[in-house]
Amino acid sequence: MKLTHLALVLSLLAAPLAQAQAHAVSGAAVLKLTQQYVDVAPKRYVGSPGHTAAENFIKDHFKPEIAKGNFVVDEFVARNTPAGPFTMRNLIVKFPSTNPAKRDSIIVLASHYETNFPLKDINFVGANDGACTSALLIALGQYYRDHPPQGYSVWLLFTDGEEAIANWSASDSLYGSRHLAAKWSGDGTLPHIKAFILADMIGWKQMKINRDGNSTPWLEDLLTKAGHDTGHAAYISTQGQPIEDDHLPFKQRGVPVLDVIDYEYGTKQDPEAFHHTEQDTMDKLSAQSLQVSADIFVDLVKLVSER
Ligand SMILES: [Zn+2]
Repeated sequence: MKLTHLALVLSLLAAPLAQAQAHAVSGAAVLKLTQQYVDVAPKRYVGSPGHTAAENFIKDHFKPEIAKGNFVVDEFVARNTPAGPFTMRNLIVKFPSTNPAKRDSIIVLASHYETNFPLKDINFVGANDGACTSALLIALGQYYRDHPPQGYSVWLLFTDGEEAIANWSASDSLYGSRHLAAKWSGDGTLPHIKAFILADMIGWKQMKINRDGNSTPWLEDLLTKAGHDTGHAAYISTQGQPIEDDHLPFKQRGVPVLDVIDYEYGTKQDPEAFHHTEQDTMDKLSAQSLQVSADIFVDLVKLVSER
């Protein structure tokens, strides 16, 4: 993820809210999955053994979908990265709708699962940046396995190569999502995608989801509505700026997109202190923030399907 502008808005305190309704996905369970993921694959930059361990961790949680043929590995070679060619793999898990009239329409829920190649020599584990949202997708998959979507079909997308290999630019970033958007354009999948909803850095204890100037306005409106529906409006800011993230290649091809992201991740003095540093660790996360994120994602799927 990259900010288009460096100016940052102030993060406000997010008050925890009492919640009466039952949770489809448990934030505590997402936190536990995040810990397991970081334990198994602390460093998971492209080309590393940890990257394979991360892929295997994800696959181990989708055995029923693999057995049904609903798990797709989209492998490709990123030929011209600053560090040479890399084989990368996007992982796609499909949960078809039970409703024949809506089954051909798709909501994609996405997160990147790798860590940064340039940070391979420091102790960077990306607890908030990549790990907790991969865990969130896994937990959402467990929910949709037991509660198949009744509206649009839901596809989980674990993207590879989101981070820059050297320095962020249009050609050095978003490798997996650029590849997949082109592939899905070619094979006719793109017009079926009603919404591409991305999760990034939404597990921090002091999470406040930002507005993203690159997201589709009606989806930003649904994010506001989801905040109200779930009792979590206090966790969603009214401010933000355009963000470059895995939603861009899909936006550029006309897909409605939403980036659910909190790009401020640090201290009052340095709002990015924990971002892409050794300080992006498990102790920064909370089950409550992951509960908020999970509740909002489940509600967004419902809201897009009902639209
Ligand atoms: Zn990052």
